[in-house]
Amino acid sequence: MNFEINKLLQDETIPFDFTLKNEDLKDIEGEIGEEGASVRGTIEKLSRGTFLVTVTTKMTMIYPCARCLEPTPVDCSYAYSETITVKEDEVILNLLPIVEECIYINEPYRILCSDDCAGLCPKCGNNLNHEQCSCDKNGDYDPRFEVLKNLL
Ligand SMILES: [Zn+2]
Ligand SMILES: [Zn+2]
Repeated sequence: MNFEINKLLQDETIPFDFTLKNEDLKDIEGEIGEEGASVRGTIEKLSRGTFLVTVTTKMTMIYPCARCLEPTPVDCSYAYSETITVKEDEVILNLLPIVEECIYINEPYRILCSDDCAGLCPKCGNNLNHEQCSCDKNGDYDPRFEVLKNLL
């Protein structure tokens, strides 16, 4: 993920292609599946100290379902490009923060394990996709839980 950029000529482009594991990335919401993320792209020198990085990441991401919190795998392909300015004597460009940004800004706001996910029981937290509980779903429940629900 570290690329030597000091020898790059004006308008010259270097391609990159590598795989990242979940433990390589920190500032993302989801988790990268076992096969890792395939990262491809180019670094192009625009002018002295200025580079355009274009990146595409393909992977299976695992997100918690918004209703039942069950880990849900999603096939993702995210694209991003950023103009980077570095100090003139900078030799190495670390692409890791750019890859993290690529994933982070593209991440879906809300994932459901299935469109008809029944979610969790608001009273006991039971996963209603797997089994019914005997709670009265229409009854009043502790208003303090309502406050918590609004925070989620
Ligand atoms: Zn669900
Ligand atoms: Zn319940």
